[in-house]
Amino acid sequence: MSNDKTNNNGKKNVRHLTEFTENILVVDDEQHHLNSLQELMSQNGFNVILAKNGEDAIRRLKTNTIGLLLLDLNMPDVSGNEVMQFIEAHKINTTVIVVSGESSFEAANSALKHGAYDYIKKPYVTENLLNSISNALKKRQLEMENKQMQARLMESEKLHRYLVNKSPDIVYMLDSHGRFTFINKRIETLLGYKKEELLGKEYTSIIIEEDHEKAKHTFNERRTGERATTNIELRFRCKNNDCAPRHFETSVIPIEISSIGIYSSSNDITSTKFLGTYGIARDITERVEAEEIIRFQAYHDMLTRLPNRTLLKDRLNQAISHARRNDLKLAVMFLDLDRFKVVNDTLGHVIGDQLLQAVSVRLKKCLREGDTLARIGGDEFTLLLPEIYDRKCSENVAVKIIKSLEKPFNINNHEFFVSTSIGIAHYPDDGTTMESLIKFADIAMYSVKGNGKNGFRFYADHMNAAYSNHLSLENDIRRALAQNQFRISYQPQINIETGEVFAMEALIRWQHPERGSISPYEFIGLAEETGLIRPIGEWVLRNACAELKRWREAGLSNIRVAINISACQLEQDDIVKNIVNILHENNIPGEMLEIEITENVIMKDIENGINKLTQLSNHGINIAIDDFGTGYSSLSYLKRLPIDTLKIDRSFIHDMQNSDEDASIIKAIIAMAKGLGLNIISEGVETKEQLNLLKAWRCKNMQGFLFSRPITQTKAIDYLKSRSKNTKQFASMYKSGSDYLNG
Ligand code: C2E
Ligand code: MG
Ligand code: MG
Repeated sequence: MSNDKTNNNGKKNVRHLTEFTENILVVDDEQHHLNSLQELMSQNGFNVILAKNGEDAIRRLKTNTIGLLLLDLNMPDVSGNEVMQFIEAHKINTTVIVVSGESSFEAANSALKHGAYDYIKKPYVTENLLNSISNALKKRQLEMENKQMQARLMESEKLHRYLVNKSPDIVYMLDSHGRFTFINKRIETLLGYKKEELLGKEYTSIIIEEDHEKAKHTFNERRTGERATTNIELRFRCKNNDCAPRHFETSVIPIEISSIGIYSSSNDITSTKFLGTYGIARDITERVEAEEIIRFQAYHDMLTRLPNRTLLKDRLNQAISHARRNDLKLAVMFLDLDRFKVVNDTLGHVIGDQLLQAVSVRLKKCLREGDTLARIGGDEFTLLLPEIYDRKCSENVAVKIIKSLEKPFNINNHEFFVSTSIGIAHYPDDGTTMESLIKFADIAMYSVKGNGKNGFRFYADHMNAAYSNHLSLENDIRRALAQNQFRISYQPQINIETGEVFAMEALIRWQHPERGSISPYEFIGLAEETGLIRPIGEWVLRNACAELKRWREAGLSNIRVAINISACQLEQDDIVKNIVNILHENNIPGEMLEIEITENVIMKDIENGINKLTQLSNHGINIAIDDFGTGYSSLSYLKRLPIDTLKIDRSFIHDMQNSDEDASIIKAIIAMAKGLGLNIISEGVETKEQLNLLKAWRCKNMQGFLFSRPITQTKAIDYLKSRSKNTKQFASMYKSGSDYLNG
């Protein structure tokens, strides 16, 4: 204001002062003072309100918003000081300039004490008064702006506090000793600590011990600039350890501040000092857990939770390197469950899966720490024994595994007998690379499969050829059907009392273009495993029935045909319909067909067996249990099955003369069949001695090389014709046991 030039009326100030829009209350008990002040104010563009005494002024203050008072002191009744007391007491936001005739220092002093902004003595110099008003109003303006700023700052601070506390991340500050000086509320929901209990504590108090070193390294970082911020993954403890540690990605930002203070130039690097650390910790537990699951899935089989092929290869590679460096041996075992496919096909995958899980549990119990058991396919497992001394060690494990599977598995009230074929290859004797060891163990396993299954074998070079055969076999079977390479031979079943051939068993043959005739023992198992048995089985049914039709048309109407059926065929929904249709098409009564089913097959799924066989039996079809005595049939099941015939297994007949046990079994089976009203037939009869013994034990139906080998289809009809002509002759021959039999 000092350099403002003004005229008498203070006109110079007009433009400036009229920017203030607040009301000015002029209080004076002398009318001419009121008038002149009103004029002066109006001239300068103010809104003026007049009060002619103290009482009037207080009333106005109550009803109007007044920015400035020009207040006289000496007034009757209510003085200027009393008006100021009122203002003070009611905390009215207004500025008072006293304009008074009173010239004593006390008066001025008291007025200022009561809160007056200025004291102008009457008569006043216009310029002084206007200056004082101008300054007062400016000060008010500044104060108001300041207040607004304060309010805005408070708002903003509230917002930031809200944001920090509601942050999904933990926000914290540490002092230079690593103690919490700030932490937001998120810590409570994530880890259960009250923030107050952490303030002043070291950050290590919430970090799990294993991560302390890692944390220290990062938190002690005091470099500044871009490289200063570091992100590390740390695990924080929950309060009282009442939950699993959670994973956090923690950004650590060292804080530096100029020691001279925030107003000083921050270019002065030498004067900065390390203050502590500021950071954000983001909860990444879910991500880490998801990653862990993904990692687990990548290396494990989800059904059994065993390592998968990838992890096995990894471990095997490591084990080979280790063995090479330390001159050690190791073993790789390839395990394949025997006939597992039958379980899967007949009882469904759910039960199959449960069985696999149960098997894995037993297998695991046979292992030592450090061994790796991996599931690498449906029912295939590979076992790595990383350190062994000799073959005896791997043999022991194999024996242990086979033994561990001996007891039946019980799943959903089904009893299962599971066996496994194990092939073993050794490092360095059989192979020195991962690929060769796995391959040779696999080959050795196939050699077990081809030799009766349920056992173990060490790899030997000669197995290689057999293995390649196996591989090409599956493709060949498919081609065989398309190219009509299958044939059926017929083996007669004979009643030695009457000399009649009462049935012919249809036995499939494979006329392989390169390998010649292949026995069903070599391919039926594989056909069952691959499901190819269904089309093969249907082919046999059709062709055998068509052949039977020809025999019947040739007048051989008393001959039955016996056909072997596999488990998976029995599982087919439409098997009964198919068989019945084929019989119809060929005009064959049900009684002229006999279905042979291997004992074990029915026992695998007894309810389905009973159901399907009963339907077949209702169509008059005969049911025979093949290879009887080798399975686990219980008498109660036998009673429920619609069986007509028991075929005593070849192995008993073969050994009956040397083994009392086998002889007793045969006699028991014959007695049992009689008791149950079933027919009985002995298969595999090769010698006169066997014939005579069986005859003595009252088994009259027989089949075997002694009577005839299986006969090709083309020769069957002639054979049957000639037999039917000479029935009686044969009967007497069997009776006397004449030498003709050997001819
Ligand atoms: P299987 O039903 O027990 O048939 C009897 C097997 O014993 C036949 O073998 C037969 O040639 C053989 N055999 C007969 N008499 C004697 C004998 O006195 N001594 C000896 N050592 N063996 C004798 P094959 O033809 O090799 O058939 C083997 C098995 O293959 C059959 O055993 C049967 O389980 C299965 N099979 C054969 N044809 C079929 C078929 O069409 N479908 C199904 N699913 N399985 C079949
Ligand atoms: Mg048979
Ligand atoms: Mg048999």
